[in-house]
Amino acid sequence: MAVRDGKMVKCSLCNKSAVIHLSYANSSLCEKHLIHSVERRVKRTIREYKMLDGAKHIGVAISGGKDSQVLLYILHKIAKPMRIKVTAILVDEGIEGYRDKIIPEAKKLTSDLGVPLEIVSFKELTNYSLDEIMKMQKNQRGESSCTFCGVFRRYAINKVAKMLKVDRLAIGHNLDDMVQSYMMNILRNEDLLFRFKPIGGAIEDERFVMRIRPLFRIPEKEIAVYAVLKGFKSVFVECPYVNEGLRPMVRDFVNSLESKYPGTKFKILQNYLEVSKKISDQFYSSEEGKKINSCSICGEPTSSSVCKTCSLLSKLLRKE
Ligand code: SF4
Repeated sequence: MAVRDGKMVKCSLCNKSAVIHLSYANSSLCEKHLIHSVERRVKRTIREYKMLDGAKHIGVAISGGKDSQVLLYILHKIAKPMRIKVTAILVDEGIEGYRDKIIPEAKKLTSDLGVPLEIVSFKELTNYSLDEIMKMQKNQRGESSCTFCGVFRRYAINKVAKMLKVDRLAIGHNLDDMVQSYMMNILRNEDLLFRFKPIGGAIEDERFVMRIRPLFRIPEKEIAVYAVLKGFKSVFVECPYVNEGLRPMVRDFVNSLESKYPGTKFKILQNYLEVSKKISDQFYSSEEGKKINSCSICGEPTSSSVCKTCSLLSKLLRKE
């Protein structure tokens, strides 16, 4: 129940008690209208970006968290009448005490929905779990756990998606994730804007399964309330490496801006969409953008001669 200044808030669309107040829209929504609003916006995003046009099989990357639960639930609801197959994909990074608590919940949700679940681990694909990698990195000034995790996870998901012959790979990034990634990209002066576009990926190539982010305009808070209203159980297990990255600081900074200036996250997202479109158009019309190689070690597509996964692994093994 939403409460403001000690008073119960009513839904702006009907007279029922509101479950959430949306400062950026200066409105409040009851249970029925929040569920309807989230689903309507996801459908609009899918239509606007033609995310499912021609799709036959969607792979949904799930983590056990609320975003991927909501994504799987809504996509399954949309895909069923369209006769599009849905498979959930879960990556086990090999972090002790983390994924092992989440996997049973993922199994329960997928079995309740009747969706097949494919689990793949870093260990199977690279011979190393993330814990083993971080032990090997000890006393060396190497990459952070989150860098290894992000690169290996993209590699793992793409590999499994190709193996399952899925033609769309849905990722549960919400508005907050998009804004944080954009800000981190600026703070690190990185050139990775393509990596989290609403549709497509870092490299446009048929060897990469097309990624879609149907939740990219939905704030994290609305997804969390939607998940609670739908009765999804989310086991909250914090990754032991979480504080090693820049993200928690960026998240707190953006949240404090949003509470002072409601609507800030949407403005940052809009700026990202405009900037990334311009850069993307320029990149794909350049010679560099047209040239996609096969990694000389694993054969996966890459814009360099060796893909990022093999390059990280080689550096790690050289240091051992
Ligand atoms: Fe991976 Fe970093 Fe997230 Fe942990 S916090 S799951 S290491 S990206």
